[in-house]
Amino acid sequence: MSNFYLNIAVDTPLYRIFDYLPINNSPRSDYQAGQRVSVSFGRRQKIGVILNISSSTDISKAQLKPISKLLDAEPLLSPEDLTLYKWAANYYHSPIGEVFAQALPKQLRMGKEPTIKLATLYSLSQSGHALDETCFNRSPRQRALWQQLKSTANPVDRHVFAALDWDWRAPINSMIKKGWVDIQHEDAPALSPPEAPLFSPNSEQQAAIKAISKKQQAFQVFLLDGVTGSGKTEVYLQLIQQVINNGKQVLILLPEITLTPQLAERFRKRLATQMVVSHSGLNDSQRSQAWLRIKKGLANILLGTRSAVFTPMNAPGMIIMDEEHDPSFKQQEGFRYSARNVAIMRARDYNIPIVLGSATPSLESLHSVQQNQFTHLVLTKRTAGASQPVIRLLDCRHQTLDNHLSPSLLNAIKKTLERNEQVILFVNRRGFAPVLMCHRCGWVGECRRCDSRLVIHKEAHLLKCHHCGTEHRIPSTCPSCQEAELFPLGLGTERVEETLNSHFPNTPITRIDRDSTRQKDAMQSLINQVRQGGGQILVGTQMLAKGHHFPNVTLVGIVDIDAGLFSCDFRASERMAQLITQVAGRAGREEKPGRVLIQTHQPEHPLLNTLIEHGYARFAKEALAERQQAQLPPYHYHALLRVNAVKEQAVLNFLTDVGHLISNIQLTSIQILGPVPAPMLKRAGRFRYQLLIESPQRKARHQFLKSLLPELEKIKSSRQVRWSIDVDPIDIF
Ligand code: ADP
Ligand code: ZN
Ligand code: ZN
Repeated sequence: MSNFYLNIAVDTPLYRIFDYLPINNSPRSDYQAGQRVSVSFGRRQKIGVILNISSSTDISKAQLKPISKLLDAEPLLSPEDLTLYKWAANYYHSPIGEVFAQALPKQLRMGKEPTIKLATLYSLSQSGHALDETCFNRSPRQRALWQQLKSTANPVDRHVFAALDWDWRAPINSMIKKGWVDIQHEDAPALSPPEAPLFSPNSEQQAAIKAISKKQQAFQVFLLDGVTGSGKTEVYLQLIQQVINNGKQVLILLPEITLTPQLAERFRKRLATQMVVSHSGLNDSQRSQAWLRIKKGLANILLGTRSAVFTPMNAPGMIIMDEEHDPSFKQQEGFRYSARNVAIMRARDYNIPIVLGSATPSLESLHSVQQNQFTHLVLTKRTAGASQPVIRLLDCRHQTLDNHLSPSLLNAIKKTLERNEQVILFVNRRGFAPVLMCHRCGWVGECRRCDSRLVIHKEAHLLKCHHCGTEHRIPSTCPSCQEAELFPLGLGTERVEETLNSHFPNTPITRIDRDSTRQKDAMQSLINQVRQGGGQILVGTQMLAKGHHFPNVTLVGIVDIDAGLFSCDFRASERMAQLITQVAGRAGREEKPGRVLIQTHQPEHPLLNTLIEHGYARFAKEALAERQQAQLPPYHYHALLRVNAVKEQAVLNFLTDVGHLISNIQLTSIQILGPVPAPMLKRAGRFRYQLLIESPQRKARHQFLKSLLPELEKIKSSRQVRWSIDVDPIDIF
């Protein structure tokens, strides 16, 4: 019998580490923490990671089994990685196996060998060079690729084609077949010389760059708080350049929606260094390759979304998180972590600086500034001679609205178009209208599986539930009284588009929402169309608020803000203020001044007025004071226990048992609120309840959860429900 045991994290929802024996007669020196193994688990084989090697175990000899296979000769994960993943499991009270499942790219989690694939490089052959433009009269795509290759001296990898909004594979393959293009395989693609910036940083940018680069060798959190268009990206670029010149790597985290091929291309061109990207649009192989290239030091920059925060760095130099306030940095299912939190922890472990950037910083980060935990760097001015847009409220009371559009807004749109400038109209909801109602009997189209109304999607001729995905054809007569008197209530992007079409029949109108951009690259071609200039209107949801730079937009209209002023979530006002500020930031980004008009029936509303008269910083200060007074985060600490089941009674039974468990735990500085039904009680056919755990001390919350959670999986009634714990929840649904 072996005298050592392997403590293994296995991907299961159980709060446990599993002990296994080594393979028969294999020496201890074969094993190290961080190696992957394959083990039999129940009736299945699963992949796990060795966390520890110990000399004793609590498991009886009869129950111990040897692992089936050792997958890595060298550890795939370093001690630092293990420390971070263990910290995350502990802080978020998540089963350790689930943390590993999240942290490792799918292929590696499935046991695939950690080998780097060689890059394919393309260059023109001699006969390719000998061609001229006219050879491509009948194949414009081949011509574009030919021109691209002709303009570069060295062989290039596929990234140079990334900005094309069509599939370049087929045309390049036929050029390879004709012998015009040569390919070769390398472990690192050749680079073209870096593009120089077109300007030098202004004094505020310089000050920020200087403050951060002074601290390159130590952990420190910087909040780069810069108004929209103040040139935060330029600050990042200059810092990244310094870090990679010192031979170190940079991890850059971005919200999903802003990490476009164009942005990646901009970074690639400016920095001319080995760079990899990681986001949900890539396939499994691309994601694990990016992970491995950073881990092995073959790339200097990783540009990634939320989950990239777990990628091990070979030579850590700096972490940058752009749009740090963005809710997409919080994972909302399974292992519910905040990438901002994990990134800060990671920077601390690596002892490197981290830069959080935003025009509308989260209240959490501003609070940390007040506590002197973060260093505040402020960019107050827009670059390139652009001024801040003027924001005004349009009082819609007593006005005759045409489908929610007021005469003053329509007039402002008309004037803007007459100057050949562009307009953005922001609408909170996709679809045509949120409710279908019968004029005769009052029937309303509701989802059978959720407590919600079905949204009318006129273009698709469907009623859709935005919560569970249920779809029906739009009925022509009322299902209840059979009269043909159904009418749409409220508005969505499709309806605003239709109304604008009737007012401005000769103006191109582009709708940007999840429906219009569903197809790959659709977003990009819509954006390219807008960039071409000329008078145009864009109608869209929050997708429009983030990052995009439309130089010719001078008017932004916010159509329906009122509903958001009355939410039951205490974070709604923060979200609203961020959204308004970000949407407003799309106006007047170059020489032409911008204007923002907000339609409202609440022109006296304090939130709107503070924001408009004094700006986001003042709003945030007041909102923080309110949070403190109300004993809410970030002053107090929350955790949310969510429970759901098809049978409501099962949820209630489980919560009763949880109540008994809690009454046996000593509650120091803990308040339990609930259980209460979730704001949407029924969703996708399941009944949902929640219990809020609240404490003025993070530590007390932690201790409480540590005593409670391992007990929950033991209660019998837990088998009839699904439950989850969310530490630092960011919404209560
Ligand atoms: P932010 O991310 O802060 O909203 P960006 O980084 O996108 O702003 O910068 C806005 C625009 O200003 C970009 O087109 C950028 O190239 C340009 N820019 C940045 N810094 C300067 C500068 N110092 N002088 C002139 N233009 C600049
Ligand atoms: Zn009816
Ligand atoms: Zn539904």
